Parts: sequence; structure tokens; C-alpha cells
Amino acid sequence: MTDFRAIRIDKDSDGQHADYVIMRERDLMEGDVDVDVAFSAINYKDGLAVAGKGPVVRRFPMIPGVDLAGRVTRSAHPEFASGDIVVATACGLGEAHYGGFAEKARLSGDWLAKLPPPLTPARAMAVGTAGLTAMFCVLALERHGARPEDGLAVVTGATGGVGSFAVALLAKAGWRVAAVTGHASEDAYLERLGASEIIGRDELSAPGKPLQKQRFAVGVDTVGGVTLANLLAQTRFDGAVAACGNVAGMEFPATVAPFILRGVSLLGVESVRPRIELRRAAWARIARDLDPCAIDVMSEIISFDDALDRARSIVGGKIRGRVVIDMG
Ligand code: NDP
Repeated sequence: MTDFRAIRIDKDSDGQHADYVIMRERDLMEGDVDVDVAFSAINYKDGLAVAGKGPVVRRFPMIPGVDLAGRVTRSAHPEFASGDIVVATACGLGEAHYGGFAEKARLSGDWLAKLPPPLTPARAMAVGTAGLTAMFCVLALERHGARPEDGLAVVTGATGGVGSFAVALLAKAGWRVAAVTGHASEDAYLERLGASEIIGRDELSAPGKPLQKQRFAVGVDTVGGVTLANLLAQTRFDGAVAACGNVAGMEFPATVAPFILRGVSLLGVESVRPRIELRRAAWARIARDLDPCAIDVMSEIISFDDALDRARSIVGGKIRGRVVIDMG
């Protein structure tokens, strides 16, 4: 029986606590594939989970980490064999099933994908749920029929994980991209990703009129709240906003005016249980479109020892792009 290191969230009468622990393989949950985790990554949801904020964890104890990549060591699943390099994102990892902040994982092969070349496990984790979600947003806008000739695209929470990928993917698809950020010092970073215009977060965070000057053809919103209401109010006729996040709040103080007077569409995007075909299409498109160097610009690699502190800091908006955890 092999021991392994993990970050575990326990709950007792004093509340939730996250800490490093040693676990045994027999402590793992059910699954038909075992993986030696090589890399994981920190998502906003992981930050909420370790900080005990928001109802992320649905059973205790829990190993957080909605993303993981590594090598298969045992498989009873027809699509995977020992030695395969695989990636798993979302699917309840770190919420209802033990996730990626551990040296070992046991999970359902249905949640896994083989790594699409030229992605390495580290770069796949730099992409992770955040990059996939950004890709789902772009695919949703394309299914809506939006094209770069339509005008300006806007991305909120632009220096965050989802936002950074959304800026890069939209720019790669030919859009002119306006990046909305609260970090005035990150203009150069955003321009390097492909942003052609930077908008201060405050410009969109105060309550505004139901219909405002038409500025954007499409949007990717990671923020929610008043910002999303303003984005819709500033979207042009027949435009669309793909909404995937809520860092500024769950509430959505909008009116129906943009929908019924400008034909604007609000496209919901979720990455927790996307259809397998959509997931494969998204990975293939990311592997095809994103230059590995662009992925490196958006990511930083840290050791597992530093993962808990860094996960706690994401909720305070203290992380730029993607933080990848090297399990060592
Ligand atoms: P990050 O923390 O990496 O990015 C969030 C960014 O939002 C920050 O970097 C900051 O960017 C901006 N921000 C932070 N606080 C505020 C605020 N109060 N008001 C406005 N902007 C703010 O998180 P992720 O990119 O990982 O996730 C973003 C959102 O997307 C989260 O709500 C997350 O839960 C959600 N999400 C949803 C998924 C789905 O399936 N629908 C999947 C993955 C993520 P800046 O300083 O540039 O403004």
C-alpha cells in the first residue's frame, strides 16, 4: 500500500480546515482508473474550497483541485491503459470526488481525455478548466453566428485564468479584443495576449441605464453582477455575451431591454459536465490554435508545498493568469 501527499479539507464543529496530510491508496474514492498526478492547477473554485467560502465542497473530507494531469498506473476502462498520459477537468473533481491536489487520484475514465499533442501535462494544466471554459465561451459565440467582422469583442476579469485565455483565443480567432481589468499595471501582459484596448474595471461596475451606447459585438463575462448587466446594455444589435463567472456576485440586476429591443443574446456556459464531444472539440481547438509560448506567458509553475497558500490567495484576485502546481 503506497502513501501519498495530499491537501485535504476536513470539517468539524469549528468549521472547515484545509491542510497537507499523508493518505493511503485505500483512502481513495471509487474509480476505474488510477493516475499518478504530475501537475494540477489552481482555479477560483479551488480557492473558494480551501478558504471555506461558498458552497463548493459537497462532501467531507475532500481533496480539492478541479484539474489534474498525469500518467495512468491502472485502468479497467476500455479507452485507457497503464502508461497513458491523461488530463481531467471539472466533472465534480474537488467538489464531490477527490481532486488534483494530491500525488495520486482514482477516478472514472469517462472524465479523462488523452493529452492532445503538442500539449505537455504542464501546459494542459495551464489550460485546465479555465482555458476550456474560455474555449467553450468562444465556441458558444461562434455557434451564435458571431464573426470578427461584427466589431469589438470584450472580456471581463481579463487578467484572471478564464479571462486571459478568452483574450488570447478571441485574438487568435481574428477578433479585436477589449480587455476589462482592475489591474492597471497589467496592460503590457494583456496586450501580449492580444488585447487591442484596455478598459478599467470601474467603467463597468457602477449601475447604469438599461440601454447604453452600443460598443461591443460580443463579450465573454467572468464577473457577473452589475458588470454583466452593463455589458448587455452596451452590446450591439444581435450581439451576444457568453457568461461563465460570478467573481463580482451571483445577482444579476439587469432588465430585458437589451434582449427585446436589440436582439442581444445571453449565452450560458458551464464546464462542469460538458458533453464529451464538446470537451474533445475544445481541447483539439486549443491544441491547434494556441502557441505553446502563449500558454507559457499566461502561466506560472509552483511547487506543491506552495499550493495551499496560493490557492487561498486567488479569491482575493491576487493571481494573474494560471498557476500550475508541479507535484514533484
Ligand atoms: P481568477 O481569480 O483567475 O480570475 C478572476 C478575475 O476577475 C480576476 O483576476 C480579476 O481580473 C477579476 N475580478 C476579481 N474580483 C473582481 C470583482 N470584485 N469585480 C470585478 N472583477 C473582479 O478566476 P478564474 O478565471 O478561474 O474564474 C473566473 C470566474 O469564472 C469565477 O467566477 C469562476 O467560478 C468562473 N468559472 C466558471 C466555470 C463554469 O463552468 N461556468 C468554469 C471556470 C471558472 P482583473 O483584475 O483583470 O479585473
